[in-house]
Amino acid sequence: MNEIISNRDRALSRPSRKISIPSGQKEGGAASSYYGSLTFDYRTQKNVPAKLKKELDELIISQKPISPVQAEQMAELVYDWAIKNGCTHFCHWFQPLTGSTAEKHDGFIDLRGGKAVEKFSAGELSQGEPDASSFPNGGSRSTFEARGYTTWDISSPFFIIEGLNGSTLCIPTAFVAYHGEALDIKTPLLRANNVLSKEVTKFLHLIGKKDVNHVSVCVGPEQEYFLVDRAFYYSRPDLVMTGKTLLGKGTSKNQQLDDHYFGSIPQRVKNFMDELNYELHRLGVPAKTQHNEVAPGQFEIAPIFEDANRAADHNQIMMSTIERVAERHDLKALLHEKPFPGINGSGKHVNWSMATDIGENLLSPSEMPHQNFQFLAVVSIILEAVHRRADMMRMSIASHGNDHRLGANEAPPSIISVFLGDALGQIFEDIKNGVSLSDSSGIDIDLGATQLAGLSRDNTDRNRTSPFAFTGNKFEFRAVGSSHAIGLPLTILNGAVAEVFKESSVLIEGYLSSGQSIPEALLSLSKHWTEKAYPVIFNGDNYSDDWVQEAAKRGLPNLKTSADALGLLKDSSKTKFLSDLKILNPDEIQMRYNAFLEKYITCRQIEFDSLIHLVNQHVLPSAIEYKNQLVQTMHLSNDTGVNFDVEKEICAKLTELMKEVSGCTLILHNHLSSFNHDEQKIAEEIANTLVPLAEKIGEKCNAMEGMVPSRMWSLPTYLDLLFLR
Ligand code: ADP
Ligand code: MG
Repeated sequence: MNEIISNRDRALSRPSRKISIPSGQKEGGAASSYYGSLTFDYRTQKNVPAKLKKELDELIISQKPISPVQAEQMAELVYDWAIKNGCTHFCHWFQPLTGSTAEKHDGFIDLRGGKAVEKFSAGELSQGEPDASSFPNGGSRSTFEARGYTTWDISSPFFIIEGLNGSTLCIPTAFVAYHGEALDIKTPLLRANNVLSKEVTKFLHLIGKKDVNHVSVCVGPEQEYFLVDRAFYYSRPDLVMTGKTLLGKGTSKNQQLDDHYFGSIPQRVKNFMDELNYELHRLGVPAKTQHNEVAPGQFEIAPIFEDANRAADHNQIMMSTIERVAERHDLKALLHEKPFPGINGSGKHVNWSMATDIGENLLSPSEMPHQNFQFLAVVSIILEAVHRRADMMRMSIASHGNDHRLGANEAPPSIISVFLGDALGQIFEDIKNGVSLSDSSGIDIDLGATQLAGLSRDNTDRNRTSPFAFTGNKFEFRAVGSSHAIGLPLTILNGAVAEVFKESSVLIEGYLSSGQSIPEALLSLSKHWTEKAYPVIFNGDNYSDDWVQEAAKRGLPNLKTSADALGLLKDSSKTKFLSDLKILNPDEIQMRYNAFLEKYITCRQIEFDSLIHLVNQHVLPSAIEYKNQLVQTMHLSNDTGVNFDVEKEICAKLTELMKEVSGCTLILHNHLSSFNHDEQKIAEEIANTLVPLAEKIGEKCNAMEGMVPSRMWSLPTYLDLLFLR
């Protein structure tokens, strides 16, 4: 109890942290003067010879391995730079299947004839050998050799993580097994990017765009997070263990008034954001936009979009930098999807588009009719991709945390549909109905030139409830969880789109050889895909119950839990397209199934254990203390003749709740110790039986929290966590 009061004192009297950030006038340019100072990007680094730059550019496009001479050159350059910037160590930085990042640090120090020297070789740059068995490999050890290798990803810049007493050069790497099987998030993403580029380029060549050599995926992930004072955080075992509160009574005012969203940013948070931007900019992460989010204590940061691989790396750096900088301000950043049941959770809106190497955004609706046909064909291809692979897209965002968010009242449901808005929606309805194709002159109708101009209006009033929405010149995949590595959802999306582009090239060839002009062929293609994919278009309220019924009628999948969604990875008819496109082979898919399912089960078990701990160490003792006091008070009644009806009522109600909580907790405990051996069944039992049971326990505890005097409640409350800083 005293601890809570002193925590409140602490939280409210934190000194403001002031750092010196070079500012505009004084230092000659604000952010642009230090932007990227902690990164080494061969494209922009001054001392990289032009010839080497060109060679590396070509290697990336042709996907050929780097030569020993080139590696030697790069190792020398990056080593010089790292040493000048105070690095003592280097590490291969990679994204194992846990979804977070891993690093193993090695010193530059070496001994030559007993004398200490610093060195860094091409070999050390190009390849590392962390112990693969300590990362989730989804059982790959039985199939493959346990050894895993990290290999340098030339296309992603080096960066430095600074410590107070020393800095480390980070080398972005892929993590693969002995025979090249991908053990990480990055490798399949690179493969998917390449396949998509290849298929889209081929398609564009067929429709006359012969000068396109390469297509890249542009990605801008908007990152949501909560901030709580660290004093409260460390007094909540559930937050420390699971990243979320497993119980907590809602405050009377939370987000009903919408007064937090876009409101003025609290001063302490603004101080944090300024330092966060400074650190991100030095790391070459193009942070751009920041604001309060809907829930109290919730915020958002969005970068400028970049190519998918960089964006995926940068999002990981962004998440870890948010956590690191928050600590300096005595704050804890919560990246969990649903840290506070009952109020908005956090997501990551992944903005996605495709651009050619000559700078054309394929999702930009142009007002030139001819261009329109290409745009409409591209959108129709994406519609079919999402329609066909909706269930795999749902799989790609499955996690224990996101399950609490998807389908909750503020988040997209588990049903994947596409929002097009009124103007574009109308065009696709016309295309499906063949309205503008009803006679052969239809092709000359200015299909959509004026309607397309209306897209910008749509864009201002867009449907926040859709999991996959067209927003002006990009799609937004909104169902991604706030803590997720975006690599997996991007891999599935890019693969799904590449698959339909591949089929589209065959169709276009057919249309053209039957004598259709290019615009006619594009329109035929649009009609072909729109007819198939039409059920996936939904512009209405995705949160409504009616939509769930309607979606079922339309035959759209509704995989409510991660257990169901991950189960798809066992169904080869669902995953075959990934193998066909050489994005993930069947062994790699199996490996992911095992690793993701195991993570789901383990995280849930930790949650249940933590809940049982909270009930036994905090909730019941607080209730017992109060009950004890009530009983003592009532005991006096015999002597004084005072009426104690209210106390009796409270005592009875409290006792009832205590019985329920302790009964349910026992059931939960027994379930946990009686799991069978089939992991899929365990995951389903967890999702369908134990999660609802844990939620019920949480609710009963919250009812108790509402009764017990606050000075006896030994956990920080939602008032502390969400409002005090
Ligand atoms: P919102 O109103 O949804 O927050 P923003 O204008 O803040 O939208 O943009 C969100 C993100 O979308 C940013 O990361 C931005 O860089 C990115 N973005 C903008 N245009 C594109 C595009 N063509 N392709 C991919 N991402 C884009
Ligand atoms: Mg935004």
